[in-house]
Amino acid sequence: MSKAKEAIIRTDCNGATVCDEEEDFLAKRGEHEMGSMIRTTGVLVTIFFSGSSLIGCSTPELPIGKAPKSVSIETVPLSPTGIGKTSTASTETYGNDEIVESQHFYTGPPHVLSSGKIAYLTFDDGPSESTSKILHILKKFGVTATFFVIGADTSEGRALYKQIVAEGHALGNHTYTHDYNRIYKSPEAFMKDVRRLDQLLEETVGYRPDILRFPGGSNNHLSWKPGGRGIMRKVASEVKKEGYQYFDWNVSSTDAAAPVQAREMIIDSVLSASRGKKSIIVLMHDNTYKTTTLEALPIVIKKLQAAGFHFEKLKKSSFTFQFLEP
Ligand SMILES: [Zn+2]
Repeated sequence: MSKAKEAIIRTDCNGATVCDEEEDFLAKRGEHEMGSMIRTTGVLVTIFFSGSSLIGCSTPELPIGKAPKSVSIETVPLSPTGIGKTSTASTETYGNDEIVESQHFYTGPPHVLSSGKIAYLTFDDGPSESTSKILHILKKFGVTATFFVIGADTSEGRALYKQIVAEGHALGNHTYTHDYNRIYKSPEAFMKDVRRLDQLLEETVGYRPDILRFPGGSNNHLSWKPGGRGIMRKVASEVKKEGYQYFDWNVSSTDAAAPVQAREMIIDSVLSASRGKKSIIVLMHDNTYKTTTLEALPIVIKKLQAAGFHFEKLKKSSFTFQFLEP
């Protein structure tokens, strides 16, 4: 992204709900790093003064051939490909991917940084019709990554879970239904959904992942409606108690900030947010319609390699980045 000022007028980013997670970060960090924030009635205008990654929230997947527009999160299928059976929308939302590493809240075991810089590529919301294409690119570059998957109890879905594992990548739990209104009702409801996916994965690939990503990230506010304001803290605590480690991200590809994000925006966002960091967890999406993520991926890999990163998959003891303070 250029150094030019960029004004982002945040309106109804996922069609149904204004994603306001970012406001927490901005408030925490103060305005000095991000430029100025001007709040107007119902609209937040954020002005960036430095090359920074676009923050935003995801848009639900759109049927092929339809122009991007506001879509109700309740009505758009997450996996319209038939790979998954769920009928919930993706409402992935972003935290501020410019947060410096010193601000991460690491509550796992001590992490020993190997020499060099590590990139953890993560793909959320699969399996989809893009999964095998992503796998093909990763194989071509000899790169391992992490797939935070949802429930897809179909023959195609099961085959893709197996392929992810067979090709050496990590599987993480991203809940079975990805349905905010269902999973964020209570810690018990969340764990029930997580275990449903665990069971499917265990039947399919032979183990239950101990790594997890919350739909929307650990600081999402969409959970407030079904579960109240303190719900994410309760859910995160339960998840830890049950032996999972959860991972947010410190680099957003911004590929969910638009139905089909510009390829150059994805590349620039990853590179600019990676600058100055030794460990990066990169948020990307495994979604049938996110064709530009696929187009950007080889270039992102090459440029991160040129910047000195090597690629690893996440495991429970890996470096993590968590938006929610313990
Ligand atoms: Zn998601």
